[in-house]
Amino acid sequence: MKIGVLALQGDFAEHVAVFSRLGAEAHEVRLPEELDGLDGLVIPGGESTTFTRLMVDYGLLEPLRRLADDGLPTWGTCAGMIVIARQASDMPRPGLGFMDIVVDRNAFGRQVDSFEADLEIPALGPEPFPAVFIRAPVIRQVGPEVEVLARLPNDRAGGGAGSIVAARQGHLLATAFHPELTDDPRLHRYFLDMTEARGSASKVRAATVLAEGSNGSTRNSRP
Ligand code: GLN
Repeated sequence: MKIGVLALQGDFAEHVAVFSRLGAEAHEVRLPEELDGLDGLVIPGGESTTFTRLMVDYGLLEPLRRLADDGLPTWGTCAGMIVIARQASDMPRPGLGFMDIVVDRNAFGRQVDSFEADLEIPALGPEPFPAVFIRAPVIRQVGPEVEVLARLPNDRAGGGAGSIVAARQGHLLATAFHPELTDDPRLHRYFLDMTEARGSASKVRAATVLAEGSNGSTRNSRP
């Protein structure tokens, strides 16, 4: 499995390290041509407003939209989740917008900048997942095709109790927290399973989709 981790900013190196430990080939991606041949893509945590600015500067916005549109498994964590959301609060410019979720940035305010919570994630098995939240967003709304994977525990004090913090929409995965900062690799394994399920056909498709884009055609003109 060849996984690309968007490396414009943020904690991409930690994601690369976890995937490598799991035996996947993980690459840092900065340029559109580095998207070629990927089985999956991760957009890491960092600062979403910086991501969206750099994606424009590096010419990545359209290629990334085309690939996700074409079914490339894509996982956004924290700032990455904000970037792939259909709508996010307080964003100066649009992100990629391909996942049908509405997200609140910095949902825990200044008082609770970061915290840890043990999350029930049934898709990963019975053992709770140790989740690290850093100036985290939450998901306020999900579309009909989105499966909720985890919510904050209801007994959590303060804002956010019961909020959605992990979700999946087919080939798209979103987590509000930082699985790459803990020793638990189950979410990275889960994403690898998503990419494996999609199969090697996606590589060939990805190359075609990128080539179509560079020839000037748009996704609307494709059959
Ligand atoms: N607060 C950041 C943002 O709005 C996200 C923080 C993170 O990725 N840990 O983009």
